[in-house]
Amino acid sequence: MTDPALPPQIRAHLPDGQELTGRLHARQETIHGWMYWTGLALWQYSESTGVEPAEYRVWLSTDHVQPLPGQTYDSVPTHRLPQHIPAPDTRWAWTVQQIRGPGGCVTGTAIHDYDCLHSPRGEALNLDQALTALRRPGARACKDCDAAIVLTPLV
Ligand SMILES: [Zn+2]
Repeated sequence: MTDPALPPQIRAHLPDGQELTGRLHARQETIHGWMYWTGLALWQYSESTGVEPAEYRVWLSTDHVQPLPGQTYDSVPTHRLPQHIPAPDTRWAWTVQQIRGPGGCVTGTAIHDYDCLHSPRGEALNLDQALTALRRPGARACKDCDAAIVLTPLV
């Protein structure tokens, strides 16, 4: 029978093959599977209090925890991974603008933050690609966006 004042009980499997009955305090979904915040009752000793019961808390995976018959786990705090995939972070994406001189010839390039007003958009470059582009002859970092501030010290 479950005592509603206490977290439900679980069976924990220890590395040496022993099994303990513990408490389940929370569940956390991770990219590797579920993890369980468990409490295992053990003894602790201090000179001031002597030997007394203490709860040792540890995260355990599904390989080390089993539910117990008759226990209800509905009230255990459960944290799932977000179901939506967030949009890619474009804060550190860069673009290359071709600078054309009189007659339409390309005379150089400007490297922009992807969101710069002067950005041609299109293919987004990562930091390494942006630095490579900035090292080419005739390339400069735009001073109207973060490109000059962020990239120039790294070249
Ligand atoms: Zn710019």
